[in-house]
Order: sequence, then structure tokens, then C-alpha cells
Amino acid sequence: MITTNIDQAIDALINGEVIAIPTETVYGLAGNAFDEAAIKKIFTLKKRPFYNPLIVHIKSADYLHTIADDIPEIAFEMAKYFWPGPLTLILKKQKFISDFITAGKDTVAIRVPNHPVALELLNNLEFPLAAPSANPFGSISPTSANHVFNYFKKELKVVLDGGVCEKGLESTIVGFEENQLILYRHGSVSIEAIEAKFGKVILATSNDKTPTAPGMLSRHYAPSTDTYLTDNVIELLKNFEGKKIGLLLFNKAMNAANVIVQEVLSENSDLNEAAKGLYAALHRLDNSNVDIIIAERFPDKGLGKTINDRLERAIKK
Ligand code: AMP
Ligand code: MG
Repeated sequence: MITTNIDQAIDALINGEVIAIPTETVYGLAGNAFDEAAIKKIFTLKKRPFYNPLIVHIKSADYLHTIADDIPEIAFEMAKYFWPGPLTLILKKQKFISDFITAGKDTVAIRVPNHPVALELLNNLEFPLAAPSANPFGSISPTSANHVFNYFKKELKVVLDGGVCEKGLESTIVGFEENQLILYRHGSVSIEAIEAKFGKVILATSNDKTPTAPGMLSRHYAPSTDTYLTDNVIELLKNFEGKKIGLLLFNKAMNAANVIVQEVLSENSDLNEAAKGLYAALHRLDNSNVDIIIAERFPDKGLGKTINDRLERAIKK
């Protein structure tokens, strides 16, 4: 059920239930991070393989040491600069943190969400919240309470409604190795914003069998409709004569035959606005009875990099 009743959400979490919560990135499927039964419920609901770790959401950077150990100084500095906000830090875990949260790794992912409802929740709880995005494994992330409800229906007793997510893309995930910043997932904080303040960020390498971060799986964030990504929409359209087509475009609508729906993400060419609307547009396209979705590649800078990363993982493989 969709509700704005925060007390109901608090009660459910204290009782070991899993609920959906709003954050500024996407909606999360949250449970008590110190309750292994609750954590297992998250995996079951999401049909998420156990090799995919979760993010631990804490109320402020002051609680970092309750989850992580041997925290490098730069992690505190980044936390101070970006939190509350869409940057997740990968740190050495405290011994007692459940292997289900970390997928057996000795590192744990942590962030402080920047959403008034999520923070109010955390401030009323005596435990942190473990949460992945509130979508079935591999599908498009939810950026509204309705998206979550449409995925889980009665399976979720509480979907706490905090409006449309302000950022609309998952958090950026960064770890630390020998004084080097490692990027595990592109996200709502651009690489440029991190590098301007903290120096060079190196991309983590991964393969599908042992993904360093599940967001790195080659197919993830995917609509059920076959999706293509291209630099030249007009050219690609020629391959699909007679098909019903949905377009996902950056800043301008197009005049073309067979195009049934078009989603233009930012007429002002604003990448933040495009990021915010990306998943909602994909949800609409996926539900619009088209045969295929064609997405245009975005400018390869700032959040355009994150949008392209998600579209790469949404395409037909
Ligand atoms: P979600 O945002 O729904 O994908 O769920 C949490 C994300 O956190 C996963 O996709 C992982 O990419 C990331 N994550 C959690 N723990 C770790 C870790 N120890 N190392 C790398 N990535 C992690
Ligand atoms: Mg996810």
C-alpha cells in the first residue's frame, strides 16, 4: 500500500519488515541492517542473487565507524563534502556486518541519503537501513511510489511515498585502494564533481561472473521491450520499417514514420533534468505497447556519462 504515514513505516521496520522508502536517487527496498532475517527478505522480494551486495544507509557521517573500520581520512573528507547525498563509499566492514549485506566481501557500501523522509526515518530508528533499489533484479529502477507499487503490488505492505526522486539515478559508488579513488558505478554525482575536489578517479574493472558491483552487470536497468542505443536515430530507424517505435531523445522531438511515442528528456539540454526523468520515461515507453525502443546517445560528460552507462545496460544483447 502507498502511504505517507511515517509512523507506520517506522513500526514496520522495527518489526523486521521490509518496506519501500523514498531517497533522492531512486526508491529503496529497506530493512534493518542489523537483522539478518530482514535482509534475506530483501533478496527474496527483489529476486536478487546473493552475490549482489546492498548499500547501508546511515543517518549521518558520525555513524560511519559503527559500520566501517580502518576508514581512510579522504573518506571522511568526501563524506563531509557530499553527504547527505548520492555518493556511496566502499569501506572495510566492521566484523559483525552481515555477509548477506556485503555478499561475503570484506567491504561494505555506505551512504547518507539526502531526502527529508529518508532522514526522518533514520533519525527515528536505532539501526541503519540496508537497501538496494526497489525493483525486481535487472529491471528499470523506480523513481516514484507508483513505480514501486506496480512492481510489487500486495507483496509490499508499506510503500512510503516521498514524491518523485529529485536525482532519478542511483548513487555514484567510490572505493579506496592504496590512496587511489576507484569508481564502481557511475551515478548521480558526476566524475567531474569528484575529481574537481579529490583528484583522479580510476574506473574499476569487472566481468559478469564476479561483478565487483552489480551495477556493472552488462544487462541491468533494462526495459522488457527490446531497446537500442545509437548516435544516429534516423539511420537506425531505417532498419525497423513496419515496427511500432518509441524514441528516447535528449533535447528535440523528431519527425519520423512509425514513431508512436517520443520522450524528450530536456528541451533545455540540461543533463540534470534529463537524469531526473530518465527512468520514468523508460517506464512509460516500456508500458506503451511499442515493438522497440530506440534511445539516442547522450553527450559524454557530467551526468550524460551516467545516462549512457544505464542505456548501455538497458539495450538488447
Ligand atoms: P542497487 O543500488 O540497487 O544496485 O544496490 C546497491 C549497489 O551497491 C549494488 O549495485 C552494488 O553496486 C553496490 N555495492 C554494495 N556493496 C558493495 C561493495 N562492497 N563493493 C562494491 N559495490 C558494492
Ligand atoms: Mg539497483
